[in-house]
Amino acid sequence: MKRVAVLGGGPAGAFAAERLAAAGMKTVLFDEKLAWEKPCGGGLTFKAYQKYPFLIQNDTPKRFVKTTWMAAPGAGVTRMSLRQPMVIYSRLDLNRMLLERAERSGAQIEKARITHLERTASGWRLNTRTASLDADFCVVATGARNPLKDVGTQLTPHDTMHALGYYVSAEQEHIDIQFLPQLEGYIWVFPRCGHLSVGICGKGEPAQTLRARLEAYMREKEIPFKDATFYSHVLPSLAKPAWRSNRVAGPGWVAVGDAGGLVDPITGEGLYYAMRSGDLASQVVLASEHSPEEKPGAYRALLERDFAADLEFGSALAKRIFVGTFLLGSVPKRMVQFMRRSPRFNDLMQDLFSGTQPYLGLKERLLRNLHGTLLETAMNFLLSRVVPGET
Ligand SMILES: Cc1cc2nc3c(=O)[nH]c(=O)nc-3n(C[C@H](O)[C@H](O)[C@H](O)COP(=O)(O)OP(=O)(O)OC[C@H]3O[C@@H](n4cnc5c(N)ncnc54)[C@H](O)[C@@H]3O)c2cc1C
Repeated sequence: MKRVAVLGGGPAGAFAAERLAAAGMKTVLFDEKLAWEKPCGGGLTFKAYQKYPFLIQNDTPKRFVKTTWMAAPGAGVTRMSLRQPMVIYSRLDLNRMLLERAERSGAQIEKARITHLERTASGWRLNTRTASLDADFCVVATGARNPLKDVGTQLTPHDTMHALGYYVSAEQEHIDIQFLPQLEGYIWVFPRCGHLSVGICGKGEPAQTLRARLEAYMREKEIPFKDATFYSHVLPSLAKPAWRSNRVAGPGWVAVGDAGGLVDPITGEGLYYAMRSGDLASQVVLASEHSPEEKPGAYRALLERDFAADLEFGSALAKRIFVGTFLLGSVPKRMVQFMRRSPRFNDLMQDLFSGTQPYLGLKERLLRNLHGTLLETAMNFLLSRVVPGET
């Protein structure tokens, strides 16, 4: 393989390009905007910076947030002191840092939109508005609104949620997470350097309804939004069947980050999985033990082992967690109440929040920590397979 093209320069593409170029691969990255304020909370979990410490060891502006307030209807608010802070960036700063790292590693960075992609005898011909280029392999990193229809995940409305919000010129020290009645999603308030990212994500609800819910919350909390910048985007949230049929790789290409649907279907965390998949994709592309024909299968297997099996399991839990009931109350209400009362449950939530508790290990952890009837009820809740209306 002589040249790899990376299509898209968000966290997934930039990190894949950095890894490929650092290993000596001739790498060209295309992004139509390069660094930009992509609609996002910008929150990075402990899992992300534990794996990639450069995410905190740098001069780029960022906030370390040590407290989260979690609230649910009927349960009030509970405060969680985070053992491991959440790190929050503006996306303009994060993207710029990652692109600069890629360039320093030797990747060629081009500000251009890929308008067409065509398979040739030896690889690919890529077209921008003004030029064309041949490449042996493509890493597709064009995000959730991937315009290249023949490559990447085919997202259906069942496999996405709307996510929208405001950048508000205000300050606060803690993160707010607010659950809402009958919403498969939540509201967040993330403090960033100099402003807040206030947003809502939700599955199965029109964007206007979500916006109305968010604005009602902001009015109630007296968070001004009249002159604030509004943002809105698609967030992949694959339903369980979609993980099995996910078009994440094919002859001569692999998809990374949102273009591969690689987002936590419960929390909406995508930054870590964007970078992780970029890293895994680069390993497969560089591996000499895989022939070009074997690379798509090798990438799928690596993703599955690393995190996709866990996210697939999470996708079966998502609806139950947001809109299910447990002990005659909503699950979010019970979660907030248990966090207040049980240090062990609080620990569990902390670990889920920091990304160190996989969904696949929840059952074992509950078995170790809960007893008697509560355990039985929790197990039935967690393991029952059929929930009315669940896809
Ligand atoms: C409102 C919202 C809040 C979120 N909050 C968080 C959060 O707090 N924490 C978290 O972990 N995740 C969050 N996410 C998810 C996170 O933003 C994404 O998972 C992440 O940006 C995925 O990175 P990516 O590189 O795959 O895609 P993107 O960041 O979308 O990058 C794709 C890039 O491809 C470029 N591109 C697209 N098409 C072309 C083309 N044809 N030619 C050239 N370039 C092209 C675009 O310009 C873009 O720069 C949030 C998402 C939303 C919508």
